[in-house]
Amino acid sequence: MLRNIQKSTELFHENSNYTPDGVSSPMRAFRQVGSNPISLSAGKGSLVFDIDGNEYVDFLSSFGACLLGHAHPKVIEKITMQAQKGTVLGLTSPLEHLLAEKIVKSTSALEQIRFVCSGTEAVMTTVRIAKAHTGREKIVKFIGSYHGHSDVLLATPATCGLKTKGVTKGISEYLGKDILLCEYNDKEHLTALFSQFGSEIAAVIVEPYATNMGFVAAKDGFLHKIRELCTSYKSLFIFDEVVTGFRFNFGGVCNLMDIDPDLITFGKIIGGGLPIGAYGGKAKYMSHVKIGGDVFQSGTFAGNPMTMTAGLAALEIMEQDNFYEELEEKGKTLKTSIENEFAKHSLPFIFTHYKGLGGIAFRNDTESMSNYADVKTQRYDIYSKTHQKLLDKGYLLAPSLEEPIFINAAHTHEQLIGLAKAIADSIHEVFYEEEERINYAPAM
Ligand SMILES: *Cc1c(COP(=O)(O)O)cnc(C)c1O
Repeated sequence: MLRNIQKSTELFHENSNYTPDGVSSPMRAFRQVGSNPISLSAGKGSLVFDIDGNEYVDFLSSFGACLLGHAHPKVIEKITMQAQKGTVLGLTSPLEHLLAEKIVKSTSALEQIRFVCSGTEAVMTTVRIAKAHTGREKIVKFIGSYHGHSDVLLATPATCGLKTKGVTKGISEYLGKDILLCEYNDKEHLTALFSQFGSEIAAVIVEPYATNMGFVAAKDGFLHKIRELCTSYKSLFIFDEVVTGFRFNFGGVCNLMDIDPDLITFGKIIGGGLPIGAYGGKAKYMSHVKIGGDVFQSGTFAGNPMTMTAGLAALEIMEQDNFYEELEEKGKTLKTSIENEFAKHSLPFIFTHYKGLGGIAFRNDTESMSNYADVKTQRYDIYSKTHQKLLDKGYLLAPSLEEPIFINAAHTHEQLIGLAKAIADSIHEVFYEEEERINYAPAM
């Protein structure tokens, strides 16, 4: 039976009078999957509920922010207690100190950290520090990556005609002149950029797993190559861990990679479901934002006690024994189940993952994707139809093929097995309806 989403649809149209596209963040309008957006009324554990009363197993996990699932009782308890003591106090509080200490101690590359209210602000500030520290202007970023919506990271690169996403008007042209683009995993091009511009490069910013173009893993040696180039040209190496931080292990994923980035950004998970961003690194870089230093950053709500207490409560749960082992097991369950289900229907797509984060490449290729050019070869049209069918079956995935599948701690193995079957069935239905199987798969 198909869902009724009449209330969602009506509300969306009404909201569109007051808010552009009826949403505060564009992906929520479901334009990328070409369907009617749903409006959610609640989330509990692994589930979310829409305003028409439909229930979904949630694999969007608030774009990865809810690693514990929704409304974890321990986090709620702390938030409720703090709310009675004031939500924002204007000055610092012990909670801020506790969370900073926990995060700094979790990650060997960190000596100091500062809290802001979003990943966007965190990344923006690291770039500011890198420019101030090196006295240089150029930033290298990777095609298809997303590092928040600050001007410096959305500027249209003036060079090389390479297309990336998130390009927008309204940003001064000169900012684009300082952005150098490179395909993810392309060591040769990166080396060439450094030989040409090395002495002007302030920083390279990279996600250690590219999570804003579906799921793309860094190939062996790629991140180490960046480290090596940054060291020899005295550029700073910024790890954007807004998605990866605390997702795979207690701390930055750089801990697991034997890499020592100069600056790291965090966000999403570390706020325990409340708005947050954080940036940190060696004290010599962080000292730029000290009073009397040459970089300014501030924030009315930065380090507010609600977010700090929620973040602390979440981290205390994540730090318990086996927390990450269990997430990893769930990732394995999803992989095995997807492979079994895809084999049953002879579907040609593959699922790649690292622990609890992964994605399906919607393309007929047994190789995993390694850059944005690969990502763009996917069948976005098939994903759109699959996404719709999954909603009808009670599963919420990101409303874009360029987002991963976010496993969280509230998911059960049964739900993961269910998801795998639902995805395979949905793709199979799409193929069947479109007679795509002729193009893709042997006779069934
Ligand atoms: C989400 C995201 C950001 C921006 O974080 P916001 O809190 O949405 O501003 C930055 N970098 C990466 C890698 C992200 O996924």
